[in-house]
Amino acid sequence: MTDTTEEHTRIAYCECGAQLVGNSRGELFEAAQSHIAHHHPELLGAVGADVVSQMTQVRPGAVSA
Ligand SMILES: [Zn+2]
Repeated sequence: MTDTTEEHTRIAYCECGAQLVGNSRGELFEAAQSHIAHHHPELLGAVGADVVSQMTQVRPGAVSA
């Protein structure tokens, strides 16, 4: 039997190439905001939730490479 999980890892890539990961939309948004605050402070406030969701790719299930 396989368990199905409701949790999907969300991955977004910053334009600088940094990978941002969260287990929910809110978590990913916080990760993105934290990254922007540290690496692109001039963009802080200009990147909203809609921009983050455009960056986001939802990966169903766990991917181990
Ligand atoms: Zn970046």
